[in-house]
Amino acid sequence: TTTVGILGGGQLARMLALAGAPLGLRFLVMDSTADACAGQFAPMVVGDYRDETCLAEFARRVDLATFDFENVPAESAQWLADRIPVFPAPRALAVAQDRLAEKTLFRELGIGTPDFHAIASRADLDAALDAIGAPAILKTRRLGYDGKGQFRLRSHDDADAAWNDLGAQAPSVGLILESFVRFQRELSVVAVRSRSGEFRAWPLTQNWHRDGILAASLAPARVDAAIEAAALGAARRLADALDYVGVFALELFDCDGELLANEMAPRVHNSGHWTIEGSETSQFENHLRAVLGLPLGSTAARGVSCMLNWIGALPDALPVLAATGGHWHDYGKSPRDGRKVGHATFRADDGGTLATVLGTVGAALQREGQVTPVLARLEEA
Ligand code: ATP
Ligand code: MG
Ligand code: MG
Repeated sequence: TTTVGILGGGQLARMLALAGAPLGLRFLVMDSTADACAGQFAPMVVGDYRDETCLAEFARRVDLATFDFENVPAESAQWLADRIPVFPAPRALAVAQDRLAEKTLFRELGIGTPDFHAIASRADLDAALDAIGAPAILKTRRLGYDGKGQFRLRSHDDADAAWNDLGAQAPSVGLILESFVRFQRELSVVAVRSRSGEFRAWPLTQNWHRDGILAASLAPARVDAAIEAAALGAARRLADALDYVGVFALELFDCDGELLANEMAPRVHNSGHWTIEGSETSQFENHLRAVLGLPLGSTAARGVSCMLNWIGALPDALPVLAATGGHWHDYGKSPRDGRKVGHATFRADDGGTLATVLGTVGAALQREGQVTPVLARLEEA
């Protein structure tokens, strides 16, 4: 039997382990905390990613390694890659860990981005604000997720507040200022590339964020063929340039048909959770197939799906389970503000049926705010 090592033991590792069971795979998860939720389904090595003793134990017990967590230190990923196969390669991880390197690569590949400037000092911030204009968004280059490590500036007057909030982090994680994009919608490409360079993408997903955290996804997104082709082309160029192996996501802003890339995630992605029930092969299964050198499965959608994230605490499961095409995912985490603790996916054969189901469930869970934008989109189409 093959043992797949996963660095990071969150819900992504947990869903990888669940998807790998029918393939006959074993897993070993490494995480810095003993109660990481993937540990409920897979044995664990608990320790710091920089601890060579832990890394050595992990390397000894697995056949290859992959990631649930994109911020594993690049040196630790390289240390492992010198000893066992690691997918995606540490270089791809390193690029995706740094918003400046990532956006610079996008530009080199002809993929549009919001305007951006690296910020090392308060004077840089003033100069960049003069160049980009307001509104703008100051972000840490490294370690941000779920909208953490970001400050939105409505005008130049917010520069002091932004610097007070994030300036102290400039020496350690770096900062970047981006123009604030007034997009019509957010889209993501979730795609997979195999060891032999075969590329497949799931249909585009439309995403809605609240307070910087993904709240809802709808797939397939209703977009023009030209937008779909541009998005998939960008994802493919990126994957080829990085010689990427595994699943990744490319987050895009759609501004009147012009696509601007926000970031890439070098791993399975929250906006691809709908693929578990809503596509022929889930992102989790295809990630495992890719890293193991197995044939990739079809990424075709089965009907239309909507995923709702449960942030902070789980709602009542019963209305979801009672809904036609409703699927419940509890990550086994304790509730905490802003934490992703589960999700639900609703799958239907057509958009009209999905809208009816979402309307009913949204009301039953008193989550109208979360489903309303999805319903509006379904009604437009
Ligand atoms: P995650 O990795 O969880 O997706 P993150 O912390 O890396 O999130 P981003 O994806 O950069 O953060 O930003 C979170 C959300 O904030 C975006 O999905 C988008 O809604 C909004 N946002 C980020 N950057 C911009 C921008 N330049 N213009 C407009 N909105 C933005
Ligand atoms: Mg991110
Ligand atoms: Mg993002």
